[in-house]
Amino acid sequence: MQIPEDLRKAGHINNEALKLALSIVEEGVELLDIAERIENFIISRGGFPAFPVNISINEVAAHYSPCIDDNKKIPPGSVVKIDVGVHVNGYISDAAITIFFNRKWKNLVYSAWSALKAAISIAHDGLPLSDIGKAVSREITSRGFRPIENLTGHKIERYNLHAGKSVPNVPSIEFRFLRMKTGEIYAIEPFSTNGIGYVNSGGSSHIYRVVSTRRLKKSKELSHILLELWNTYKGLPFSERWVIGKIIDKKETLELLVREKRVHHYSMLIEDKRGFVAQFEDTIVVGESDSIPLVNTLEIIEF
Ligand code: MN
Ligand code: MN
Repeated sequence: MQIPEDLRKAGHINNEALKLALSIVEEGVELLDIAERIENFIISRGGFPAFPVNISINEVAAHYSPCIDDNKKIPPGSVVKIDVGVHVNGYISDAAITIFFNRKWKNLVYSAWSALKAAISIAHDGLPLSDIGKAVSREITSRGFRPIENLTGHKIERYNLHAGKSVPNVPSIEFRFLRMKTGEIYAIEPFSTNGIGYVNSGGSSHIYRVVSTRRLKKSKELSHILLELWNTYKGLPFSERWVIGKIIDKKETLELLVREKRVHHYSMLIEDKRGFVAQFEDTIVVGESDSIPLVNTLEIIEF
């Protein structure tokens, strides 16, 4: 199977970036410091962040990246998901690990790890996507936890992080007739929780994405900013940290583009019963009889 060199490189940088995360994430460390160090590392290795580094803590399942003047720190005893994306010329890898600071979370975290392992081990050409959901769900529920049913993995294409097909984390009949095909790229990302297994939208993630480049009649300057955002990030998510004081003068301008529906602002995703959440993710290339993990996330944290 032909894997583009740029995609291999993205996966390799992603692996190193997660190892860096593991070495710097400690109780009391500032989230802003963690995100910036990882993002700068990716750039220093010749890649670009495919989205802002996500640092989602405890009941926040996903979609939090520090804002420009963030002063939050890693809380003691917490469960921390570090989700990192890398792209090289638009070839994207997407991977996440969970780091925990109290041994009582070990089984929860292990359940997400072993779910990712099970999913990768069965992925191959022709596999119904619902079978991934079955395997993930079995691993997590057998350890006394719940998979999060409304968070899924996703197909990846060049410059397209969420390219149509989703990969369920629960048995799901609607995915019975959708099958993996050789050469397709998928992010597989089981989430497990001691809560109800469902997330809702919460506060600001500080993560944005251009969703329309339609000109703004009232302002030539705003249209120009919009075009520059698109030319820089295409449809990939970006942080306010990356653009304010550079492409955009101030946060209000970014908020104006959100109100005009040219830019989407993501919400945090929070476990409905405030259960704690663990996640592991890797990006795979589907082969005839197996699948190739691009990041090798499972090797970063061993149980
Ligand atoms: Mn991810
Ligand atoms: Mn993903």
